Amino acid sequence: MDNSFPEIKTFFGFGCMRLPMNGSEVDIEQFKDMADYFIENGFNYFDTAHGYIDGKSEKAIKVVVSDRYSRDKFLLTDKLTEPYFKTEEDIRPFFQSQLDACGVEYFDFYLMHAQNAGNFEHFKKCRAYETAFDLKKEGKIRHVGLSFHDSPEVLDKILTTYPEVEIVQIQFNYMDYEDPGVQSRRCLEVCRKHGKPVIVMEPVKGGNLVNIPEAAQKVFEDLGDGLSNASYAIRFAASQEGIRIVLSGMSDFAQMKDNVSFMKDFKPLDEREQAAITKVTEIFMGIDTIPCTSCHYCVEQNHCPMNIDIPGIFSCFNKVKMYNDMGQKGFYNNVLTSGDKGKASACIECGGCEEACPQHLEIRALLKEAAEVLES
Ligand code: SF4
Ligand code: SF4
Repeated sequence: MDNSFPEIKTFFGFGCMRLPMNGSEVDIEQFKDMADYFIENGFNYFDTAHGYIDGKSEKAIKVVVSDRYSRDKFLLTDKLTEPYFKTEEDIRPFFQSQLDACGVEYFDFYLMHAQNAGNFEHFKKCRAYETAFDLKKEGKIRHVGLSFHDSPEVLDKILTTYPEVEIVQIQFNYMDYEDPGVQSRRCLEVCRKHGKPVIVMEPVKGGNLVNIPEAAQKVFEDLGDGLSNASYAIRFAASQEGIRIVLSGMSDFAQMKDNVSFMKDFKPLDEREQAAITKVTEIFMGIDTIPCTSCHYCVEQNHCPMNIDIPGIFSCFNKVKMYNDMGQKGFYNNVLTSGDKGKASACIECGGCEEACPQHLEIRALLKEAAEVLES
């Protein structure tokens, strides 16, 4: 754990990417109850971004938090996201529109959003970081940070380029700890090397660590503590050295109450609990998944004539296998196979990808299996 930024009162933050909903609108009354309970119990950190719930998250924060609490009672984080600026000149008007939407005069933290190797070049070209540092000098931002989705090497490069960055938000949970795609542990090590406190996002992996396999459920139940599956996942993240705050997106009051119950007087995992998490991780890892390491050789060394995102499809199919997460079908249709990208079923079995695969995977057969599930 990390005790920097004393204005952040605890190790637990309210992630407002998911909020209670009434159809397509935020359930403001329930959000008010949740925010009140959160603040009454000594918490103060709220996180949003313009894209969350199509801009409705920022507006709901104004109604529920900024209009009802004095500014010293809460900390608010917002983010600069790539699709909302094409040039340097677009950044300040967009930033002002975010302050207005949230009903505040400054953000406590402002993050360069979802940084990766590709969009970092755009942020650099548009002087996004420099603009944020200027806004900090003007008092409109208290601290500049970034949120991140790429390899530890890319994170190291960004933090070396911009040592002024004060805090980093990464995806971190017990299943992504050693995941070859996410590499949570190594990203945390890069943050430690650069002396940057860490904000954790997705501690329960988008809810996937709540509904866990029966055998894994039994491991937690055998602890006899009566704690929720979410509690072990969130406390796993908060127990790591260098973590400053763990965000949780909550979609109803019951989830808020549960989270507050174990984060109010936060205690790091003890040895028994840590051992249980290791066992649960092993149970997940024992599920028959495709051992693709996301090295991308199959698509980079061999250009698939059908432009099939093989590692992306395998990762998506693995999530369905491990977490029974059928929501992955939407990601498959809308992202992995959008535009000119081929579906798994489009494979013409030329075999070029298999020659390039260092794991010797039977890619053609595996794509057929994936197509049966993801295209049904
Ligand atoms: S075998 Fe299928 S997936 Fe592999 S390169 Fe050929 S068309 Fe692409
Ligand atoms: S080459 Fe093999 S291991 Fe590497 S991304 Fe492609 S399928 Fe996965």
